[in-house]
Amino acid sequence: MGEALEMAKMIRLTDNNVKVISHNTLTETKFFVVTENIQSPNAIREKNALLVRNVTDESPPDGFGAYLYIEGCNLPTVYHQNSYLISGEFEYLSNGDVIRITNKPNLKVVFRVNISTNYLTVTEQCNSFCIMCSQPPKKENDSHLIREYIRSIPLFSASAKEIGISGGEPTLLGDDFVELLSYLNSYLPRTSIHVLTNGKAFDNRVFVEKISQTKHFDLMFGIPLYSSVPYIHDFIVQDKGAFNRTISGILNLKQYGHKIELRFVIQQSNYEDIELFSEFVSRNLQFIDQVAFMGLEATGFAKSNFDSLWIEPEFYMDKLCNAVHQLSRSKVKVKIFNHQLCMLPKSLWPFSVKSISDWKNCYIYTCELCVEKSACGGFFSTSDGKIPKGIKPFTKI
Ligand code: SF4
Repeated sequence: MGEALEMAKMIRLTDNNVKVISHNTLTETKFFVVTENIQSPNAIREKNALLVRNVTDESPPDGFGAYLYIEGCNLPTVYHQNSYLISGEFEYLSNGDVIRITNKPNLKVVFRVNISTNYLTVTEQCNSFCIMCSQPPKKENDSHLIREYIRSIPLFSASAKEIGISGGEPTLLGDDFVELLSYLNSYLPRTSIHVLTNGKAFDNRVFVEKISQTKHFDLMFGIPLYSSVPYIHDFIVQDKGAFNRTISGILNLKQYGHKIELRFVIQQSNYEDIELFSEFVSRNLQFIDQVAFMGLEATGFAKSNFDSLWIEPEFYMDKLCNAVHQLSRSKVKVKIFNHQLCMLPKSLWPFSVKSISDWKNCYIYTCELCVEKSACGGFFSTSDGKIPKGIKPFTKI
């Protein structure tokens, strides 16, 4: 371990200190669709934030809800109200992105048209306390977050491929969570929804029934199941009885026809159980839509508890191989995330998925020589130099 990571470009999504360059009339939080089209029809301008990269002799036209000037561009001599100077880091903004501006003002990019999955983090509260949680839960009431997302959904492009809903634990929001799903169904009827949840709330059939009434055509629940042994799962999520409630939730969801992905993050506490886990799923939960085996991301609690969580992939690779092939033989779809190709035997390559999150694909100096770099997911940018042993580039023969 220890080789430096070549960092991927991180995308900045919020600015808590936007500079106001003219009178700010926003008295409440507002959402705008970003446009660079100065010819936008008058009727919709109020809902648009005009993104100005370069000012010509003429001032931008009237009527837009907000004006965003990218730092470093020429500025006009006369400004419209609600004109803001934003950091050059937001240069990536493009037509159709959705932003939130508050009266403070601060800016948050809520939706980006040019990415395959937009994640809505609807709460930071959680009813588990996983020992390797990458985003440790907070206690503060943040119920405003989901209300804001519900308000902003009508502005999202209907061509969005996938929306991810994450937390914290999104189901803690109860009826607001159901309302969010209904809004997504109404405004984005062709967009897939992937919910990251611990699944415990689906133990309640009434709740599952409410969700089912939203009738979304492609709704998948990504649910962690960290072991086939109840006390190991309960230990990892730090909640006694969690295994039983999660299994009950999974059964309820499936009775209503929902898609389910099981997520197994490999760590010291559960790596010995990988094969038994696969057997358990093959025998008892064969209806599952997919199983994802995931490498540990050294951030959040996983960073502070790293030494007691991390297991070198070389110690579990044979087990992972057996587990993946067993599930595959049982016709259960399997994916492997966050594992470098040089760590995996070739028979596992077809199951390996290159991460889609832009902060996740980083490489070390060694990788420069590797002919498989473009096919390999590399490392988390958050890995902080914690690189598995045995990384070895593939070279041409
Ligand atoms: S497979 Fe190649 S690119 Fe991927 S981690 Fe190994 S050496 Fe780096």
